[in-house]
Amino acid sequence: MAKVTFKVDYCKGCGLCVSACPKNILALSPEKINKKGHHPAEITDQEACIGCASCAIICPDCIIKVER
Ligand code: SF4
Ligand code: SF4
Repeated sequence: MAKVTFKVDYCKGCGLCVSACPKNILALSPEKINKKGHHPAEITDQEACIGCASCAIICPDCIIKVER
């Protein structure tokens, strides 16, 4: 199973990773707010991740790490 982690406080909430995930398991947190004042991206179902790294590749700020 792949593991996806985020540098949460660097996320600008652009949502590109959410759109890029083929498994639809990324979302902007409805309740969390990071240090920049944005709703950060998070993974909603870690077990469903296939480790494709589309999210990490598309993130303009390179804050997503995918470990396989
Ligand atoms: S690695 Fe692929 S399946 Fe996993 S969260 Fe990122 S885009 Fe989605
Ligand atoms: S693409 Fe990067 S900056 Fe944009 S919401 Fe996803 S993790 Fe945050």
